[in-house]
Amino acid sequence: MPTVLEKSARRFATETPLGRTRRARKIHRILTEVYPHARCELDYETPFQLLIATVLSAQTTDVRVNSITPALFAAYPEPADLAAADPARVEEIVRPTGFYRAKAANIIGLAQVLVDQHAGEVPPQLEALVRLPGVGRKTAHVVLGNAFDVPGLTVDTHFGRLVRRFGWTREEDPVKVEQAIGELFPAKDWTMLSHRLIFHGRRICHARRPACGACPVAQLCPSFGTGEPDPVKAARLLRYEMAPVE
Ligand code: SF4
Repeated sequence: MPTVLEKSARRFATETPLGRTRRARKIHRILTEVYPHARCELDYETPFQLLIATVLSAQTTDVRVNSITPALFAAYPEPADLAAADPARVEEIVRPTGFYRAKAANIIGLAQVLVDQHAGEVPPQLEALVRLPGVGRKTAHVVLGNAFDVPGLTVDTHFGRLVRRFGWTREEDPVKVEQAIGELFPAKDWTMLSHRLIFHGRRICHARRPACGACPVAQLCPSFGTGEPDPVKAARLLRYEMAPVE
């Protein structure tokens, strides 16, 4: 007897590239309805604050980052303030986000580069952003998409996992994932698609126990059955990132 997962995979085994594009866009339409408030879950008011918060969000939750950034931004409102900061004081503030020594060094270092090379402003270009300490493509796209309205795909752990489960791509390398998914959707959709996939990954399609039976795109997913297929049991797995993960 084939498993639920095997049956799901078979349904899409002969899908054409056009069929995959149509299915991808249909999934996106459903997620748009399910997550009308999808957005960047980091709190920020300026591009500089978003850049700092995104660097701090590596290996931790947005909730935890949001718990310390008010104190950080009050103490160091501008890049020049952070560039001249005492590292020990910054480490103390960012400590709850983990890897606090490296993160403190990165955010002080990037503030110094902003002051020295960019007149104290966050540059709105991918190439310039990825040259800042602690900033990779993912962080750069978060900043570009949310602070500057420059479309970008944010290939984080949720995004990568979901697009592979959806059968949109088999690529593992984030840059190749970005290219493959970029071909399925118009650029204007990239930033919000990223938010919606990340919302779905945090709330329903979890890494270890996806709540398949409670998933609004189950009918369109070749990985249905990876997690709990029973609707009642799956409903108990739904999770919302309301509290930091200990
Ligand atoms: S929860 Fe299950 S059905 Fe829904 S997207 Fe994830 S793997 Fe597919």
